[in-house]
Amino acid sequence: MDNLIINEIFYSIQGESLNTGHPTVFVRLTGCPLRCVYCDTEYAFHDGKPMDFNTIIEKINSFNCKKVMITGGEPLAQKNIINFLKILCNNSFLVSIETSNALDISKIDKRVTTILDIKTPGSGESDKNLPNNYQYLKSIDQIKFVICNQEDYNWSKKYIYSHNLFNICEVLLSPCYEKMDLKLLAENILKDSLPARLQIQLHKFIWGDQRGK
Ligand code: SF4
Repeated sequence: MDNLIINEIFYSIQGESLNTGHPTVFVRLTGCPLRCVYCDTEYAFHDGKPMDFNTIIEKINSFNCKKVMITGGEPLAQKNIINFLKILCNNSFLVSIETSNALDISKIDKRVTTILDIKTPGSGESDKNLPNNYQYLKSIDQIKFVICNQEDYNWSKKYIYSHNLFNICEVLLSPCYEKMDLKLLAENILKDSLPARLQIQLHKFIWGDQRGK
């Protein structure tokens, strides 16, 4: 039977992306091949149990919410996720996936909104970025940079222009929680008229760094 290793499934307010503020069901998959220095979901590296597709969908349905975010860990690290995304779309869920840009995104169902987290030097994992992924992004997708410091901002600005990312889809810059000053990031974006959108992790402003929120 088709299954996935699931770390947790919970219902919360979407704290990131263009869907910020919407009630959403989060399905967190176990496992990630990266080790970003600021990772706030290390508990998802190994903890989890196998759940078959039907049981996962039953759990999602229990929240009476059509918006579903697939996250991790790194959800694309489990190959069954490609088929599961298709099944969710076929069942009229509004699906998005957050992925690290370290794995191939070409097989993701075109109905899914992909939030591609391009890794900056401050993450310690920028050598894992796959520029080949950008050709598979759609206009409904979003590219995200988590900015840890001024060097990260400068690097991201250069990267956005050199890969023409603003011509593909919305580009989001998010300050790394408790590392990058929000006002400083806002001032940088304004000074450079950067074709990007500032975002905060709304759930952390509501609940702090609390698991399952
Ligand atoms: S890709 Fe995401 S889950 Fe994996 S280490 Fe980085 S922040 Fe953590």
